[in-house]
Amino acid sequence: MRRIIYFLTVVCWGIFLFSSLLWGQDGLIPFPDKCGPYDREAALQNLEILGDHWGYGYDSLLADLGLWAQSPYATIGSLGASVQNRALWQVTITSDIPPTEPRRTVHIHARTHPNEVQGWWVTDQVIQLLLSEDPFAQFLREKCVFHIIPMYNPDGVELKYSRENAHGIDLESNWNANPVEPEVAVLRQRFTELMASPAPVEVALNMHSAWACKRYFVYHDSVGTSPPFTILERNFIEGIRYYFPNGIEPWFYFISWTSGTPLVYPESWFWLNHGEAVMALTYEDMNCASAGNYDMTAYALLHGVADYLGLPFTSIAAAPEPQTAPVQLRQSYPNPVNACDGITTSAVIEYQLFTAQQVTLDLFDVLGRKVATLDEGYRPAATYQLVFDMSRLSTGKYFYRLRSGNRVEIKQFTIIK
Ligand SMILES: [Zn+2]
Repeated sequence: MRRIIYFLTVVCWGIFLFSSLLWGQDGLIPFPDKCGPYDREAALQNLEILGDHWGYGYDSLLADLGLWAQSPYATIGSLGASVQNRALWQVTITSDIPPTEPRRTVHIHARTHPNEVQGWWVTDQVIQLLLSEDPFAQFLREKCVFHIIPMYNPDGVELKYSRENAHGIDLESNWNANPVEPEVAVLRQRFTELMASPAPVEVALNMHSAWACKRYFVYHDSVGTSPPFTILERNFIEGIRYYFPNGIEPWFYFISWTSGTPLVYPESWFWLNHGEAVMALTYEDMNCASAGNYDMTAYALLHGVADYLGLPFTSIAAAPEPQTAPVQLRQSYPNPVNACDGITTSAVIEYQLFTAQQVTLDLFDVLGRKVATLDEGYRPAATYQLVFDMSRLSTGKYFYRLRSGNRVEIKQFTIIK
């Protein structure tokens, strides 16, 4: 009898542990939590380490709003109020000169989960960069409008809740809840308004940070979106990674929406209402001791967004380069070339010649053996874009080398099968 009770106890514990692994500690969540399992204790520990309100409270935001308001490029406004009647502030950043062509719209919101302050620190660096006199910032302000909500859940921040609002509701995963939370209603109304405007949102970033101690984007599988969207997603994520390759994980690091389209997230709303038109993704920074490099992450984010929108940045500072560098070999894309999905089997390699010259572009494997000569001949000054079928190459790292006169440039990429 005792053995049976012992056996049943073990089985019950097994089921309990297994189901809590699947669904977290806060009840039934049909999709795995993108911010990692809900660990309230770890969040409170984090509160002790980082200080009150995880180092940035509502008062800190009010002080910063006062500073940003002094910039000619920033407009501060409130979109509505939280449960406890705190304003949901929006910072809009763009040029103070009227546009020559319609500006492109980028939306960023942070601090849905108050404990995940690192997602905010990246956003803060985005604001700092956008308000600076850096030539790239000037370029972005001229071409784009950035709407940024620094603190989407101010009550949660003030109440020291790690994930919820004042009603104890997770605003991230309750976008389709009925009744809808006031904060969700405000942001949904704002998105609806912007999507109906002449310059609808094209990129919407949802800034979080996860216990995984990695920086990554939550990639949406084609099962929950569409094959064309996943190609856009990869280009977007890898395009940002290009500017911080060792800092941000590759697109396949965290794949979600593998069993369908969830209905509960802001990204779900964008997907269901606007499909491929909006690159709406969650970014997860590191929520651990090794977090940092927020400036590098912000730099990569903004450069990647500009590239994704097809806005080539050529600064005055970068202009002397053509005289000193006769060639420029660019990073191939997509990288890695993922041949296991049956869609991507080719890669694009670009190089630019600033003067006419003889060039040789060779491909090598990881052991330095020449695999192919990709291009060879006397070429006039121009940008060359070469598409190569990679389907016959096996998994691994490859190098491509552009030789022109006594100058050699080498870059690498990876094939995954
Ligand atoms: Zn989160």
